Amino acid sequence: MERAFRYRFYPTPEQQTLLRQTLGCVRLVYNKALAARTEGWYERQERVDYADTSAMLTAWKKEESLSFLTEVSSVPLQQGLRNLQKAFANFWAKRAKYPNFKRKHNGGSAEFTKAGFRWKNNQVFLAKCDQALPIVWSREIPPGCNPNTITVKLDASGRWFVSLLVDDHTIKSLEKTDKSVGLDVGITSLIATSNGEKINNPRHFKRLRRKLRQVQKSLSRKQKGSNNTHKARRKVAKVHSKITYARKDFLNKLTTQLVRENQTIIVEDLAIKNMIKNPKLALHISDASWGELVRQLEYKCRWYGRELIKIDRWFPSSKRCGNCGHVVEKLPLNIREWDCPKCGTNHDRDLNAARNILAAGLAVSVCGANIRPDSQPTCRAVAKNPKGVRKQNPQGQEAET
Ligand SMILES: [Zn+2]
Repeated sequence: MERAFRYRFYPTPEQQTLLRQTLGCVRLVYNKALAARTEGWYERQERVDYADTSAMLTAWKKEESLSFLTEVSSVPLQQGLRNLQKAFANFWAKRAKYPNFKRKHNGGSAEFTKAGFRWKNNQVFLAKCDQALPIVWSREIPPGCNPNTITVKLDASGRWFVSLLVDDHTIKSLEKTDKSVGLDVGITSLIATSNGEKINNPRHFKRLRRKLRQVQKSLSRKQKGSNNTHKARRKVAKVHSKITYARKDFLNKLTTQLVRENQTIIVEDLAIKNMIKNPKLALHISDASWGELVRQLEYKCRWYGRELIKIDRWFPSSKRCGNCGHVVEKLPLNIREWDCPKCGTNHDRDLNAARNILAAGLAVSVCGANIRPDSQPTCRAVAKNPKGVRKQNPQGQEAET
């Protein structure tokens, strides 16, 4: 199982010089290759592919004005071109936007495959570096596991990180349990579970968001291009990364617990991007980082022998009475609690939705559907109920209002 371990590190001055130079070269090569691809397509309708850009790199290295490219390891330059290839593949498959140029003030990264580093005595030696990277080993790499890729990253606030991709053969499936849980993005809480639990963001998120607004305001008041802009921008980047890591950390604990306790986890396959367009939901969804939660559940379920089921996102999870199956026509977002007009059951909006998701997911599971990531359930237990099939409206939102 591939697993990434990420650490902070504090490069020596010589390492810092070399790494900044490397990052600069990676960025330059990536941007030049992107420009060549764009030009090829728009001016000559030619597809410039990875092999072409790789040949260009060889030629660039021979140009006098670009000879500095030979001063750094060639591995991350090549990897940068591979990543560009991936970015284009995602663009063609309509999974991503057209690739952007890399900018210096966003920091940067360099990926070293096996040819670009040595792993000795549990230390990382990058190509052209005599000294090991001074890594803060905040957690141990499982004994006997060796990294196969190392990514060095400078973030926008000026901090260095290194990520070690390890083939971890020590991960073992967890003992089977008969418990299952359904999860829903809550309106009244971050996440509602079919066990009747409501999970909220930790309190300090609010403080971080306030802090972010404050530093963003301060940045907007600075004169463009001044030294103070630079400083203010770093401050904004720092708060941003704090929020990202606080969220990841929180979600990591949550997903680990969910995977430990349940054999089957059922979630709704939400289209986050579409939901963010709905301002009423925006704060909840972006904060909930639903995408990150599902991503973590995906790999943890794979690691520990659990099952993750994604149900049709047009299934009326909120508007369906979990008791009798009646579907109400309208359920505006401001309604937190409702009574079923048919059977009279009182429902908490989010908890009812989570229970419906659990039931729908288990139905799919029972008929032996094979759920692949990013695919619709092949067994349409949900769709057998005619009311469960919804047409996608042009906004791509479930008609929840
Ligand atoms: Zn009912």
